[in-house]
Amino acid sequence: MSDDLLKKVISHAKEYGFVFPSSEIYDGLSAAYDYGQLGAELKNNIKHYWWTAMVRMHENIVGIDASIFMHPTTWKASGHVDAFNDPLIDNKDSKKRYRADVLIEDHIEKIEAKNRKDVEKAAKRFGEAFNEAEFRSTNDRVLKRQEEMDRINEAFKTAMEADDLAAVKALIEELGIADPETGSRNWTDVRQFNLMFKTELGAVSGDSGIIYLRPETAQGIFVNYLNVQKSGRMKLPFGIAQIGKAFRNEIIARQFIFRMREFEQMEMQFFVKPGTQGEWYEYWKAERLKWHKALGLGENMHRYHDHVKLAHYADAACDIEFNFPMGFKELEGIHSRTDFDLRQHEEYSGRKLRYFDPETQESYIPYVVETSIGLDRMFLATLSAAYQEETLEDGSQRTVLRIPAALAPVKAAVLPLLKKDGLPEKAREVLNLLQLNHNVQYDEKDAIGRRYRRQDAIGTPLCITIDHDTLNDEAVTVRDRDAMTQERVAIADLAAVVEKKVGLATLFA
Ligand code: ATP
Repeated sequence: MSDDLLKKVISHAKEYGFVFPSSEIYDGLSAAYDYGQLGAELKNNIKHYWWTAMVRMHENIVGIDASIFMHPTTWKASGHVDAFNDPLIDNKDSKKRYRADVLIEDHIEKIEAKNRKDVEKAAKRFGEAFNEAEFRSTNDRVLKRQEEMDRINEAFKTAMEADDLAAVKALIEELGIADPETGSRNWTDVRQFNLMFKTELGAVSGDSGIIYLRPETAQGIFVNYLNVQKSGRMKLPFGIAQIGKAFRNEIIARQFIFRMREFEQMEMQFFVKPGTQGEWYEYWKAERLKWHKALGLGENMHRYHDHVKLAHYADAACDIEFNFPMGFKELEGIHSRTDFDLRQHEEYSGRKLRYFDPETQESYIPYVVETSIGLDRMFLATLSAAYQEETLEDGSQRTVLRIPAALAPVKAAVLPLLKKDGLPEKAREVLNLLQLNHNVQYDEKDAIGRRYRRQDAIGTPLCITIDHDTLNDEAVTVRDRDAMTQERVAIADLAAVVEKKVGLATLFA
């Protein structure tokens, strides 16, 4: 059913110009996609919402735009050259390749799904008196499953920390994990695979010229910490934000734009006084969820997933997961990264990356809390939650994208009822009135009902119809995408009405 939804979203996205397979005339390139005319608009609107919320609405956060190429030592210092690996495993029968950690996580998720089912059933049975925490800590079956999940997590964590790939394979075999596509349990050994793309700089060839495409945007922020702090006279706590491309040679890139090899991140590193990172971690955890919820993509569409398996440099980490058509998956990560990155860069560069605290007269390396969200995943979240097929009162069908109005690629469509009698000219006047501030479409082809359907299908919140009365009363009919109600609005008030409906302010209310 939800697989079905993903398929529908993919084909809808292509049909209406949101997302195309890359270089399609050559049969496409695996896991690479191009954003089309409406996709580019939606993506820009998501970026704008993030940048406004993070940079503009916080006095102490500034934004930068660092280059994709960085000095190769950056990636030694950050740990990516040595440790940015995924454990890879092949199925000998199907020849399919998987991430060993993902196979194990999916196995755990299946167990947790059973627990969730039991919780749901019990909630129905007990009604208002139901206490989930109490149920989970007393119900035998649920407890047993929880124990099993903890055991698997622990075994996996221990194996990975010891770099014991044979133990990872043994765990997969012990759990009886089968190839999800074919059911075969005939596995190769597990091995590590580095995810960074390498290329060569200029005319230098050989090892000395090797350079990487950045696998995350964060390092561009860390290496500029001092530049920004000094030139912006920033005082702790303060943040540096950035939106940009990142590249990872993912072992398997599937599920449309959820996992790509070239993607875009929106990251913010928040530099704080050591010892205060716990508070800031909690602050950003709450703040980021608020940002997501403000979009109104639906109740129960988000959840936190606290990491049990912490990276060695992190002292707390969680994901905000979204209910994608494939189920709950990571959309954003919030990580308390201690002073790991700046300390490493100090060591490898020989430069001091400290903060002089005017209050305590001390100099120290700040701690960092990071928020990191994938723009493409946010795009998929928005699109898949928005997609709806509806049967209307008159029995007809419509496909509508209920994209939050402030993110919609086209904000309003201006539609002259007829292609004559001066209506197109009047409509273009209305278009001119709005198009400087909003992306507005003009459409005069076909019957008005079909034009409405076309706009519903691309998520346009407002349709503005110009009819014969408009020529006399200087008013237009404004139709709402979701309620499908119609309202007569004076042209003089139109700009304000549109802004009230689609402006970013609706998300900050
Ligand atoms: P995953 O576990 O799904 O591989 P990750 O934990 O490696 O993700 P991070 O390194 O925390 O991801 O990156 C931050 C964000 O970047 C993720 O929350 C996700 O939204 C996005 N992201 C990471 N890898 C990809 C990818 N291959 N394609 C699209 N978005 C990605």
